[in-house]
Amino acid sequence: MERLTHRQRAYLSAMEIDVWDPRATAGSIQSATLGDERVREKMSLVSGDDWGDLKRRVAQCARCELHATRTQTVFGVGDEKADWMFVGEAPGAEEDRQGLPFVGRAGRLLTAMIFALGMTRENVYIANVLKCRPPNNRDPMGEEVRQCESYLHLQVSHVQPKIIVALGRFAAQSLVKTTRPISKLRTEVFNYNDTAIPLVVTYHPAYLLRNPLDKRKAWQDLCLAKKVLNTT
Ligand code: URA
Repeated sequence: MERLTHRQRAYLSAMEIDVWDPRATAGSIQSATLGDERVREKMSLVSGDDWGDLKRRVAQCARCELHATRTQTVFGVGDEKADWMFVGEAPGAEEDRQGLPFVGRAGRLLTAMIFALGMTRENVYIANVLKCRPPNNRDPMGEEVRQCESYLHLQVSHVQPKIIVALGRFAAQSLVKTTRPISKLRTEVFNYNDTAIPLVVTYHPAYLLRNPLDKRKAWQDLCLAKKVLNTT
């Protein structure tokens, strides 16, 4: 069997389509139990290996109940080929209104953090785990994350960042797939899913607005991310 490229593998895995992998143990290979319609949808996303197509699919998404209360989806913004990718939790009220991630107060702080690293928002890619706003800014639910996570996988596969920064507890726990508290995740370097893309965790800018003394620790996290990027 022809060896799959990393990118192909990421697309397939994001689509939950099984690939034979000699490194996988028999027990870890999950069999597909998807209905025909879902398989077709997933297959078309794979074959339509295309950013515009993905954007359209996200804009029309009705996989979970959040589609009923959103104003619009919030796909992501920035350089599609950025070295840095910042991933937050979910759109808030302002993001839902504008259709762009991190454009409220927390977003202004994120912009400042990016600037402190010597970049602008246009140099990086910014996305969220969820593409729709949870009503009243409630915490995202497990099923919402499950339905939405393939979109983020595809965004990461397309952008191929050299470093991912998870912003806040929720994004960190979702991306690292753990329930460990953020205090135990900071300062460690993870890999995004089964890829070689390094991932560093820091506080959410909204948290930093409430706890400005922790901005120093956030800066240490960003410096760690920069160091990791410069050594890859
Ligand atoms: N908080 C997030 O996690 N994401 C946004 O886009 C805005 C606020």
